[in-house]
Formats: sequence, C-alpha cells, structure tokens
Amino acid sequence: MMTPSALSCAAALLDIDLGAIAANWCLLASTTAPARCGAVVKADAYGLGAVPVVRTLLHAGCREFFVALVEEGVALRQALGGAWPADARLHVLHGALPGAERDCLAHGLLPVLNSLDQIERWQALAREQGRALPAAIQGDTGMARLGLSPVELARLDAEPARLDGIAATLVMSHLVSAEDAADPVNALQLQRFRALRARWPRAAGCLANSSGIFLGRDFHFDLSRPGAALYGVAPMTGRPNPMRAVVHLQGRLIQWREVAAGDAVGYNHTWTAARASRIATVSVGYADGYLRSLSSRAQLRFDGKTLPLVGRVSMDTVTVDATDVPADTLQPGALVDLIDSVQDINALAQQAGTNAYEILTSLGPRYRRQYLNDPRA
Ligand SMILES: *Cc1c(COP(=O)(O)O)cnc(C)c1O
Repeated sequence: MMTPSALSCAAALLDIDLGAIAANWCLLASTTAPARCGAVVKADAYGLGAVPVVRTLLHAGCREFFVALVEEGVALRQALGGAWPADARLHVLHGALPGAERDCLAHGLLPVLNSLDQIERWQALAREQGRALPAAIQGDTGMARLGLSPVELARLDAEPARLDGIAATLVMSHLVSAEDAADPVNALQLQRFRALRARWPRAAGCLANSSGIFLGRDFHFDLSRPGAALYGVAPMTGRPNPMRAVVHLQGRLIQWREVAAGDAVGYNHTWTAARASRIATVSVGYADGYLRSLSSRAQLRFDGKTLPLVGRVSMDTVTVDATDVPADTLQPGALVDLIDSVQDINALAQQAGTNAYEILTSLGPRYRRQYLNDPRA
C-alpha cells in the first residue's frame, strides 16, 4: 500500500502539535513540582505517535514513562535506540505476562507488579540472575482492575520473604474518579494509598494521573503519571481546560449537490431537508475514528462557517449542510475542519457521548499525520 504521505493530495490531514505537548508537560511538571512528573505514552501515545511524543518529552526533561504492554515498551526502546538516556525509565503498567519477564529485562523495562503471581515470577528471574531486580508495585485502592488486593497485601505482610530479590522503585495505585473533585472516593483512595505506601517507605509514591494532579498537593507524592492532559484532554469536568490543544483534523470536500425540501440524506434517511439545501460530502468516516455516534450531531467548519453534519456518518464519508456557503467556494479538494479550536476533542467527545480519550485513540490510520512545532528542531 502506498503511504498517505507519498501522495500529493492526502484525503485527510491530522496535525499534531509537539510544541503544545511539550508545553502541556511543562505546565503539569510545574504544577506538581517539587514532585517529579512522568508521562503515559501507552496506546501509541493515545494515538498520536509514541516515538515523536517520547522524543519531545525527553527533550522537555521527562524521565519517567509508562506504557501498558511489554510489546509497546520493546517497540519504543528499539525505535529510540541510543537516543534513550541512561537515567530514563520505562514502566509497563500491565506487568509481564507469563514468559515475558525476560523480554522486560532484556529491553530495560520495569514491570509494574500487580499480583502475587507477578511478584513470584519476577522474583524467580531475580534468583536466576543472582541479583535484586527493580520493579514498581501497584496496590488496588478502589479500581478493582489491576494491583494487589487487600488480601494479597495481607499475605505479603505475613510472608515478607515473598518480596526478597525485588527492589521496589515505585509504589503506585490508580484513581477511579479524579476528574470529579467532589467524588468522595478520591479521599478514600488517598487514605488507602498512604497506608499502602508505608509498606515501601524507600520507594517513590506515584498516584496521580492527569486529573489527580488537579486534586491538589496531597495527591502528588513523589511522581505523577499524566497521559490525557498532555494531549489536550480537559482534566477536570466543570472547570476551564488549562491544557493546550494538540490535534487539528481536516478532511477534504469531494463533491456537493442540491437537494429539495423534503429530500432525505444518507443511510436509512435519518435526516430530511427542511428547506432546499446544498449537501457536501467530506472524505472522513467512522473507519477513520470519526465515530458513527456523531451522526447528525457534530459540526464541521469551512471558511469560518459552521457546517452541521447531517444524516449518518458513513465508513469513509460524512455529509454536511453547506447551504449557507457560497457554491463557488465549494471546490473539490477544499479542506474542511473536523477537529479545531471551535470543536476540540473535548467538545467532540461530548457530542459523541464518549470521552476525549476515545476520540484520540480512535484517530484512524488513513490520516496523513504531520508533526508541527517540534521543540527539538
Ligand atoms: C492510562 C493510565 C494513566 C494515565 O491516565 P490519564 O487519565 O490519561 O492521565 C495513569 N495510570 C494508569 C495506571 C493508567 O492506566
């Protein structure tokens, strides 16, 4: 397949502002200082490209990175090669699945140990290597997803030899509802995390995700792990978004037609023109992560004018009401904004009935990605 960037006219353009990502990290780092600030770059840095994002954040001074999977960590270390600084650490949030421990070790990845079983397997490798091996330890303070349960923690308390050979570098847990400052579960998790951390007094405490950073100093401990806010996701519901926008998405106008009042548009005729209308077709659809739940809800923009999305989102196209745009400006190939400063990822998520994380991680492989404002350039 030809890569989209090899073509002279790409059907859709995704601009990713590396300067904004660096600025967002600096804002989070200054908010948490003197505690350190890391970066979560799982799922290809939320769909934006882990390699350019990590290069940018290393340049900004970030030294603690987190991916979800061993595969992600291996790919990142291989892509960066000798550019990976000796003092940077790459943590694997899921830990190692059985058999993957050696890959972790060989590629310099630090597993997050989430269960007695993961601890046992990391300990076996340490024994075999004849030395203590570093790792992060995660306790469950309420998410019930990953991390040692209270029952498992009690076992460790009773049988401390289970931790022999494991050099705990980080002790961590994950917040359930940090974006909602009023949720009482935040205080409960904070209290449980303090008790968890007391078990590993020499390890760095690490609790806050993006939203947790904005819950205040009590949540910062030694290191935070923001992901979403780096990429422009609003960290707190009901508060202004302090993060800079990172993505700008544009599709192309393919063609347009006039329809009469009473004519319907698109699959299943879910939208009917109330007046004689000009309907334009744009080259982005749900196969590109422009979610089908946006049907008849989102708005696109052309020449500063709003074009309401009408009818169903198709796999490769959307249709918009361009009646208020002069016909002679609707040239094939013209760029139309789908994600911009007016309708950013946060607004679009609201229209789609999802969160901005899903908007970002759905951004499709057909877009021509352009990295702008690289602070290293
Ligand atoms: C994804 C993830 C993060 C980052 O969360 P954001 O809300 O994107 O800042 C932090 N910690 C863990 C354990 C995660 O899974």
